[in-house]
Amino acid sequence: MTAPLSATPDYVGRFAPTPSGPLHLGSLVAAVGSWLDARAAGGQWLLRFEDIDPPRCPPGTDDTIRRQLEAFGLAWDGEIRYQSERGEAYQTALDRLLAVGMAYPCGCSRREWQQYGYYPGWCRHGSRYPERPQAWRLRTDKGVQPVTWQDRLFGHQSLDPTRQGDVVIKRKEGLWAYQLAVVVDDADQNVTDIVRGFDLLDNTPWQRQLQTALGYSEPRYLHLPLILGDDGQKLSKQNLATAIPDDADLARPLLHQALQLLDQHPPMTLREAPVADQLAHACQNWSPQALSATPGRTRS
Ligand code: GLU
Repeated sequence: MTAPLSATPDYVGRFAPTPSGPLHLGSLVAAVGSWLDARAAGGQWLLRFEDIDPPRCPPGTDDTIRRQLEAFGLAWDGEIRYQSERGEAYQTALDRLLAVGMAYPCGCSRREWQQYGYYPGWCRHGSRYPERPQAWRLRTDKGVQPVTWQDRLFGHQSLDPTRQGDVVIKRKEGLWAYQLAVVVDDADQNVTDIVRGFDLLDNTPWQRQLQTALGYSEPRYLHLPLILGDDGQKLSKQNLATAIPDDADLARPLLHQALQLLDQHPPMTLREAPVADQLAHACQNWSPQALSATPGRTRS
């Protein structure tokens, strides 16, 4: 599994699942897309478990995901990272955000602001309810507006994060929130390329704001079309999408399907071929340009 890590690689990709349930076809497509993009570039591919919300992450799910990735031949580099062990780094980042006025404590409850659709920033200049447990929020109204960046598939993006609200970066129960943890770890692990599902495209403005405030460099972004179930909803653990197998023989036709869903037109003759052969062919022929820029698509 572990190749030696070179000191300054040009490409570092990652797969960062939340271990709240086994991988399904939708998460497999994201994993295969990000793996191929990294390997075709001769880059590294890291595995990071985003297990910051323990009640949502049943014990042993990380092992299940690890076995599933192995069955599909998606080898990662180096040690697996667990975000549950990274609290100190996230606290350091929060302290820096506070020092530059980009974060603030907030005691408002969702019930109080939900009619606005997003949190309107009432506590920006001092917590309205200092006696309550405090969450910590990002000041989206500071810095350059709107936030712009380039997506490799969806092109130029421009979003105003104040319209999405001052997102929570540390929860009032003391748990770390995804937006902060993902940015801190991507920077700490020198990730150059983020390849993930389209559902996270509109999280990118918050993440870009955090990167700028913390002095991190800007990664490249490639958001991949989501795989939708028959009901038109994104396949997810919440709607109990079927788990992919952790057996290398059973994996073969599903890997073929994942490659089709990534518009890579894998040859039918390889449909039942060992995963290593399918991946070798897909890697040689990897063409992110072939992806059609649609937010979602149904299973073929
Ligand atoms: N942990 C996130 C998820 O499972 C993905 C994070 C990311 O790729 O930025 O949806």
